[in-house]
Amino acid sequence: MIPSCLCFSHGKVTLYCFVFKLFNESRDEEGFSANGSSDWKNAYRSIHSHEISAAHKNALISLSVRVKETGGVDYILAKQIYEE
Ligand SMILES: [Zn+2]
Repeated sequence: MIPSCLCFSHGKVTLYCFVFKLFNESRDEEGFSANGSSDWKNAYRSIHSHEISAAHKNALISLSVRVKETGGVDYILAKQIYEE
C-alpha cells in the first residue's frame, strides 16, 4: 500500500514525503527524507525506511499538533468563506 503522505514530482520523476517536507525539524537531511526517491528499484525499501524513521514520525506529530491547533485546512477555509 502506498502511504498517503507521498507526492510525486513529474518534473524530477521523484517521490517525496510532503509531511516531512513541510514539518521537518530534524537535522536528517539524507536519503529519501530530504531528497525524495527516484531509485525505483529500491523504492519499497527506501519508502519503508523513511516511514519508520524518527524524522518522519516527528514530522507526523508536528502535523497532528498543527491540525489540532488550527482545526485543519478545511476548518480554516470554511471560516474564511463564512466571514466573507
Ligand atoms: Zn515522511
